[in-house]
Amino acid sequence: MKYFNFLSLILAGFLMVQCATVPVTGRKQLSTVSNDEIIPMSFTQYEQVIKEAKLSDDKEQTAMIKRVGSRIQKAVELYAAEQGFSDALRGFNWEFNLIDNDSTVNAWCMPGGKVAFYTGIMPICKDETGVAVVMGHEVAHAVASHGRERMSQGMMAQLGLGSLQVAMGSNPTGTQELLMQSIGAGTQLGMLKFSRTHESEADKIGLIFMAIAGYNPEAAPKFWERMSAGSGGQAPPEWQSTHPSHETRISDLNAQLPKAREYYNKYKRN
Ligand SMILES: [Zn+2]
Repeated sequence: MKYFNFLSLILAGFLMVQCATVPVTGRKQLSTVSNDEIIPMSFTQYEQVIKEAKLSDDKEQTAMIKRVGSRIQKAVELYAAEQGFSDALRGFNWEFNLIDNDSTVNAWCMPGGKVAFYTGIMPICKDETGVAVVMGHEVAHAVASHGRERMSQGMMAQLGLGSLQVAMGSNPTGTQELLMQSIGAGTQLGMLKFSRTHESEADKIGLIFMAIAGYNPEAAPKFWERMSAGSGGQAPPEWQSTHPSHETRISDLNAQLPKAREYYNKYKRN
């Protein structure tokens, strides 16, 4: 028993040190992996994904993804400077690509700002403002380091407490797969990929990003209504307990609209 308590104490101490704070919401998150480690790994992984994928040859849609991406990027940088969390963006090197895959209703952003949209999500986005809803949301996952947090949790659960360097050394393929799962790319579940806490956080932060970028935040609940209709209102069974229902998410977004509208009006382009 004594031994167990001693171990718990060490573990608690370890976890306290290995914590980070999410910008905007202030939530404490597990962080056994640093950005200095995970961002270079993301870049390598992203390069691989883009090399193996077929990029869309739709010039208009591709240009739209890049335009929305760069407007959201500027909004994030502006907001980070204003709120004093520019440090969270250190090492970012933004990139936005559209992958030709109509059956994948998904988009993601890796640590470090590497974004991929799949053509399968474009009909649900419907227009540029719809793309901004998804872009704001995915970029918010990256800015809030949700991928890094899940990577840290996954390494604890699957690989023990080892560092990323050790994990890569002993099991590079497994570690790379863990990264893809951690950012929501290694799943067919589309947009239903993070926990309730992460999804709510990304919705809240993403709404602010899109508003500052000059996109009307009122499009966000509308996007999720279309998403809900598209999935027949059903989430896959294993996600029902951990994932926010479309109804909860839409009502939460509506509750956050007044604040987002303030940002939208403040930064509105004339
Ligand atoms: Zn999400």
